[in-house]
Amino acid sequence: MRHDPDVLVVGGGVAGLFCALQLSRRGGSVAVLERGPVGGPQSSSYGNTGFVGTHGAGALAEPGMLALGLRGLADRQAAVVIRPRLGADMLRWLWQFRRACNDADARASLSVLVSLKQRSLIMLRELCDGDGPAGGGLAAAFAEPGMLVVFGTERAFGAAQRGVPDAVARGIPLRVLSAAELAELEPDAGFEVCGALYNEEGAFLRVPEPKVGKNRMHLDVAVGGGRDTTPRDVRWARIMAAVQRLTAAGATVIAEVGEADQPDHVLMADPEGNEFDVL
Ligand SMILES: Cc1cc2nc3c(=O)[nH]c(=O)nc-3n(C[C@H](O)[C@H](O)[C@H](O)COP(=O)(O)OP(=O)(O)OC[C@H]3O[C@@H](n4cnc5c(N)ncnc54)[C@H](O)[C@@H]3O)c2cc1C
Repeated sequence: MRHDPDVLVVGGGVAGLFCALQLSRRGGSVAVLERGPVGGPQSSSYGNTGFVGTHGAGALAEPGMLALGLRGLADRQAAVVIRPRLGADMLRWLWQFRRACNDADARASLSVLVSLKQRSLIMLRELCDGDGPAGGGLAAAFAEPGMLVVFGTERAFGAAQRGVPDAVARGIPLRVLSAAELAELEPDAGFEVCGALYNEEGAFLRVPEPKVGKNRMHLDVAVGGGRDTTPRDVRWARIMAAVQRLTAAGATVIAEVGEADQPDHVLMADPEGNEFDVL
């Protein structure tokens, strides 16, 4: 490492490495300081699913998120968990996060995040098109299929559609697809669906390493009902009915997950090996 670089980037995750690449391409001397293996499991970038696009551009801080994050402590399946601990730093962070969880801030940050994600997509496209060592080999791993979110219940589909006009107004090219339109776009979506949201602005960069665990980004099929509000036998019967339908459509059961004598959900895989939970 040079002892007098123009820029010292601390952290060799995707953000640090991309900054370092861009700065060095502009002629600066750059050094990256990383405490672990670059791209190793200590970094968020390790878990990255390789999607870049405007899907999911919303800010994490939105109304109700603090309560959701704290409720996540009691739910092993929760997507967001906030683990409080004692200490001034944590209290300050909780206070600031709570203040940021309001409609006005969430809407304002959405526009910024959409621009950021659109710019990231352009840069990623350029990187993968490049012939140099940075771009070489990436073209084959790069694809722009967009993002399709498929709904199995009218209730979830209806709720998702309510956000579409706002998203479109903020520059996200989101389209509502009926079940028939979905079948035309994605003939493999052969199971029972009510409809889908399709965002054509999205790319995947596949990683060459072999898969060693459950997909980090996956969509679950939630049919059982709330764990706190639905009796266990009712939940389980609904889950089993969905498992049967999905198996008939070509999915396979990997495991029933939970306590040995009382499974809570079923881990399945689609014909391409992408896992999802039925819960
Ligand atoms: C499961 C999962 C799936 C995701 N999927 C997607 C996706 O599909 N698309 C998407 O856009 N985003 C996705 N994300 C989010 C995305 O991965 C992160 O936003 C991104 O990786 C953050 O990159 P980063 O470089 O800021 O942080 P990190 O990748 O966490 O890198 C920070 C690095 O800094 C190092 N470091 C920290 N402190 C020091 C120090 N004092 N000295 C030296 N080094 C230090 C750490 O070791 C680490 O390597 C996903 C995240 C997760 C967890």
